[in-house]
Amino acid sequence: MQLAAAMGRLGTESAFDVLARATAMAQAGRDVVNLGIGQPDFPTPPHIVEAAVKALRDGHHGYTPANGILPLREAVARDILERRGVEVDPDRIVIVPGGKVTMFFAILVFGEPGVEIMYPDPGFPIYRSVISFTGAEPVPIALHEDRGFAFSAEEVLARITPRTRLVIVNSPANPTGGVVPKEELDRLVAGLAEHPQVTVLSDEIYARMCYDGVPHASLTAYPEIRDRLILLDGWSKTWAMTGWRIGYGVWPEHLVPHAVRLAINCHSCVNAPTQWAAIAALEGPQDAVDAMMAEFDRRRRLIVSLLNRLPGFRCVMPGGAFYAFPNITGTGMTAGALQDGLLEEEGVAAIAGTSFGIHGEGYLRFSYAASTEAIEEAMRRIARYLERRGIGD
Ligand code: PLP
Repeated sequence: MQLAAAMGRLGTESAFDVLARATAMAQAGRDVVNLGIGQPDFPTPPHIVEAAVKALRDGHHGYTPANGILPLREAVARDILERRGVEVDPDRIVIVPGGKVTMFFAILVFGEPGVEIMYPDPGFPIYRSVISFTGAEPVPIALHEDRGFAFSAEEVLARITPRTRLVIVNSPANPTGGVVPKEELDRLVAGLAEHPQVTVLSDEIYARMCYDGVPHASLTAYPEIRDRLILLDGWSKTWAMTGWRIGYGVWPEHLVPHAVRLAINCHSCVNAPTQWAAIAALEGPQDAVDAMMAEFDRRRRLIVSLLNRLPGFRCVMPGGAFYAFPNITGTGMTAGALQDGLLEEEGVAAIAGTSFGIHGEGYLRFSYAASTEAIEEAMRRIARYLERRGIGD
């Protein structure tokens, strides 16, 4: 059987592999502490669940328009106006089954052999995977710990060539929790004036998850790139809705028909009850989101202080999302070896930084979307593991 060559270029998200291994170990009776998974450990707020149940009872069982129901697109537009201060025509919004789908479509729209697409490294692994799948050349934007894992606009601009069609940015970021300061976005947008052929995909799925009172800086705030900016956002993280599969893209007007055509060819539409639930998420009470964020903030401080006490570890304070990304080079181990050792010997699931790109070597990703007890227990086990190996003596 001969498969398409592109299948050999498609990567994966190794967080799912670690999750599968951790789940298998737990099923075999091992006591596993899972700090590998990138989803909130809270249930979807009940009024959102009720809205989906009501939609089903009200008979919303059929196909919807491929770009999503109008009341939902209008609710998204109101939310963007309220939180980002920008007016968006609901016809530029395309509702899709998860944040990932906007990413997939944006890369498909631009990627082909002979072109370059830039993406953050360490970064969400699907960017590079899909870029390679299309035959385009993935060009990593290296993110550095000493800048809090924010990109340098100067470095990004310096690597743009006439073949660059798309630049992907992500703030707050997975896996680092890094937040790009507004001044850096100012510099990027100013420099993009020299490169009119470049479109930007701004993955802002963690926009509501910013700490220390720092407001989220969105690329939607720059009218000068509005006709070449694709905004990716969604419900998975903010309202603990990862399993519902819904997200949205805001596309430049001329790209909307392409995104919609991809949707029609792929999934037709997002299931109807989830779209009604998403309206309830945007327009209903936000107290559950606020409570979740307050809890993440407490855990963020706890995990960073505990990680910094481990021999061979040092961890910068992440400004957003729910990940800590400690530097583990002081242990003398590679990220992959430490990930495997911790999982096999101590039942602690964390993800090697190399799962997020070559620049992730020397780091591990811990998700603190887990209880305080789980975080404390994981840190005790890691300390025990390091001691057993004589690290820190
Ligand atoms: N973008 C980033 C940076 C993510 O970390 C994730 C999920 O982990 C997504 C997009 C995809 O989100 P969704 O589950 O809505 O597809």
